[in-house]
Amino acid sequence: MKDRMNDVETRINDACIRSGRLREDVNMIAVTKYASLEVTAQIMSHGLIHVGENRWQNAEAKWNALGEEGIWHFIGHLQSNKVKDIINKFQYIHSLDKLSLAQELEKRASLLGIEVMAFVQVNISGEDTKYGLAPENVAPFLEEIKQLNHVKIVGLMTMAPFEGNPEDTRPIFRGLRKLRDELNRQSLTREPITELSMGMSNDFEVAIEEGSTFVRLGSILIGKEEG
Ligand SMILES: *Cc1c(COP(=O)(O)O)cnc(C)c1O
Repeated sequence: MKDRMNDVETRINDACIRSGRLREDVNMIAVTKYASLEVTAQIMSHGLIHVGENRWQNAEAKWNALGEEGIWHFIGHLQSNKVKDIINKFQYIHSLDKLSLAQELEKRASLLGIEVMAFVQVNISGEDTKYGLAPENVAPFLEEIKQLNHVKIVGLMTMAPFEGNPEDTRPIFRGLRKLRDELNRQSLTREPITELSMGMSNDFEVAIEEGSTFVRLGSILIGKEEG
């Protein structure tokens, strides 16, 4: 485990150096969806505080044991009727892609007097199997949700198709960065959108070179045998 983490850390660092970025501007989310409670506790004990899960059922036992010790990221597709399970537990939602979901988050967060930080999920690759808004629909969506005061849009999220050669994902990540910059020029959010949630085990180095601020790493950290 420690060796794998050190190896990933070196690769993140090298990608930052290659692209003239600061290591501290890239956050690593440990995606623990395939990891047991024990393995998750072990990962967090090595200082990884950002934890990603894609379903509440998988996360519940881990959150109950370790919730206070981490910053939790909901990275899976989220249905409005599941918001009640995760609100006030997951500080970040990476899969905002619908007005009804934004409204449900707003309702629950305002009742609790909290702010939820959200990434709008964008389907840059255009594959029908992927969730997320088409790039051209993001600006109108941001207009629609601008008045929701308890949902803070911090960034954009995307998933690239799996490529044998990770270099082939570069246009997807570059596309998300350009979209973010374009949206900021239009001032559609209360504050500029700064974050980009992109890059997984297969392609995180390319994503970092293209500006990722949150990489979501599962299998490369956890390995298959421990999951
Ligand atoms: C599972 C998952 C990851 C991590 O995938 P790996 O390839 O194992 O690193 C990242 N993001 C999302 C949305 C996921 O569902």
